[in-house]
Amino acid sequence: MDLSIVIPIYNEEDNIPILLQSIEESLRDTNLEYEIICVDDGSQDCSLKVLKRLATVNPRLRVIVLRRNYGQTAAMAAGFENSRGRFIVTLDGDLQNDPADIPLLLKKLQEGYDLVSGWRQNRQDDTLTRVIPSKVANWLISRITGVELHDYGCSLKAYRKELIDDLNLYGELHRFLPVLAYIEGAKITEIPVKHHPRRFGKSKYGLGRTFRVILDLFTLFFLKKFLTRPMHVFGFFGLISLLLGVTIGTYLSFLKLVLGQSIGDRPLLILSVLLVLAGVQLFSFGLLAELLIRTYHESQKRPIYRIREVYSCENNPH
Ligand code: UDP
Ligand code: MG
Repeated sequence: MDLSIVIPIYNEEDNIPILLQSIEESLRDTNLEYEIICVDDGSQDCSLKVLKRLATVNPRLRVIVLRRNYGQTAAMAAGFENSRGRFIVTLDGDLQNDPADIPLLLKKLQEGYDLVSGWRQNRQDDTLTRVIPSKVANWLISRITGVELHDYGCSLKAYRKELIDDLNLYGELHRFLPVLAYIEGAKITEIPVKHHPRRFGKSKYGLGRTFRVILDLFTLFFLKKFLTRPMHVFGFFGLISLLLGVTIGTYLSFLKLVLGQSIGDRPLLILSVLLVLAGVQLFSFGLLAELLIRTYHESQKRPIYRIREVYSCENNPH
């Protein structure tokens, strides 16, 4: 199997038939062997009925039905888990992405990239609540994570299966898939893709997600920088705090013991005690985090590195 197309579906009854039709048309000339995996994320409209009906006549379509609405990230993870293609393409079920772009993404992928992201240069969403917050968020994410992309939020992306197998998705991190991929050492690029306004159904997100994106950004920043060495973060601040606290404490002891001054009413004393305590806490926190990280890697047999390729005369006989 060459390609799995993963589509999360939440209340998209009117979009599904048109979408499948247009995927079919876009891939007709490519000779690719592909499957379409639609994940029904607990839709309350007739989406499931429509999907089931189409699955009986379309051998390429597989429908995965989740028990309830888990959110877009979980729906995508379910699709990934059940995909069989060498390449994986994700897109929205609302016709905003254009399947005609799929062959272009795949072509780019074959140039040696692990992830090709779509860039909606002509984004067709509400300017005030969507486009502007998204511009700011994209700029922030690029700055903070060091992964230079213009449009993280675009669902239309292509991946190599090996990369997908290495990614663990939680919360709403589907927006940050390129960052997670980058942490795993992937080669990433982007190409401009088309974008259409939503014709049927409603968007599932509003302005509120801006805040969730910012919170997720903190998590990712930490994951990216310190996943394998938390002691370096906590220990660093712990050490500074401890050193400052001890220095101030020594100074106060000198005043008290050598010069005989009273130090009981000095704010500096409280500061010193606070700094020493905070230092010890940060230090122990770093140690605990180190233990957690070991459990994280060892319980999943998750290596701390990723191999791209192996060369030897055994697998490259000439
Ligand atoms: N979606 C989903 N579960 C949810 C919310 C959304 O599977 O809880 C799907 C939805 O059906 C669509 C895609 O995720 O295919 C993107 O959603 P939407 O178009 O509402 O997001 P927007 O394009 O407005 O960012
Ligand atoms: Mg949409």
